[in-house]
Amino acid sequence: MKYVDEFRDRVSVETLATAIRGITTREWTIMEVCGGQTHSIMRFGIDELIPRGITLVHGPGCPVCVTPVEAIDRAIRMASMKDVVLCSFGDMLRVPGSSKDLLGVKAEGGDVRVVYSPMDALKMAVDDPGKKVVFFAVGFETTAPGNAMAVYQAKKNGVDNFYMLVSHVLVPPAMRLILSDSNNRVQGFLAAGHVCAVMGYDEYEGIAKDHWVPIVVTGFEPVDIMKGIYMCVKQLEEGRFDVENQYSRVVKREGNPEAKRIMKEVFDLSDRKWRGIGNIPLSGLVLNGRYEGYDAEKVFGLDAVTAEEDQGCMSGKVLRGIIRPDECGKFGGACTPEHPLGAPMVSSEGACAAYYNYKDREKNEG
Ligand code: SF4
Repeated sequence: MKYVDEFRDRVSVETLATAIRGITTREWTIMEVCGGQTHSIMRFGIDELIPRGITLVHGPGCPVCVTPVEAIDRAIRMASMKDVVLCSFGDMLRVPGSSKDLLGVKAEGGDVRVVYSPMDALKMAVDDPGKKVVFFAVGFETTAPGNAMAVYQAKKNGVDNFYMLVSHVLVPPAMRLILSDSNNRVQGFLAAGHVCAVMGYDEYEGIAKDHWVPIVVTGFEPVDIMKGIYMCVKQLEEGRFDVENQYSRVVKREGNPEAKRIMKEVFDLSDRKWRGIGNIPLSGLVLNGRYEGYDAEKVFGLDAVTAEEDQGCMSGKVLRGIIRPDECGKFGGACTPEHPLGAPMVSSEGACAAYYNYKDREKNEG
């Protein structure tokens, strides 16, 4: 990959802004799917560089934000059990469950540990056979291959005190759901480059064709995002609905075959509940029959744990691009990063956190 500086070059960004202005003849609404892209847009002020007629709305691509309350409650149940170590990425610790969060369980004496990789959790299990080590596997297609590999290695090496609490979600079914909603206003997508680096983008071609939306696979730096917007607007202005790849330095149409192979070895497709959105058919992954001995949900009977969502948070509308974070009545008042009411204010990829952290960027910079 080339150096990052060229993808943050101010002149290139301004040239692209001029090019976008030059081809825009009417209003368009474009959704960036990934929370990482949302943060880049807000951090670098891209929302203010593009013509006023182009509205960017933010998508469901924040893994912490879409993990359902009952998955958090299941993790909390596990972390409260004797001789169990619950391993998670740090962001998950402050996401509210029904009555508390994982940080609260840790404060009460639960063994909750932050890890940076599922392999760290697997090593913990090998090093401490007296404990049951559970990895809380959340996220999109980007994290699924690494999690699949950890389970595969556990089985291969006969590690029998390692488990996975799986709450994986897949992007394309969520895109279809957003487009099918009667309140939908999305006319084009910037697809998440990291997800497509794993899965490729042939699956997106059916979405573009069925729903008449252009989809541009896009990277995460300011020049990437500006180019993605330019390519998307150009298609919209020309009445085309194709899948184009802005992020070709990372993404190939077929994705990463080895990553897809290990996912297929370990996971099956399943229906999955998304926080704030509800059930989306065949939008998740579960451990398949060959690996059910590693499935914390089955081994510890956690599927009996169910939960209702707090209706006070409007994250479902934020995640589908129906409202912007600052259009939620609780934004910045009852809901702040210090006192979050919903996951999008907690997560480092959450749209509400992005608005909160960068909305005063001129003041902060000046
Ligand atoms: S501002 Fe807070 S309450 Fe409103 S949608 Fe975002 S996380 Fe939920």
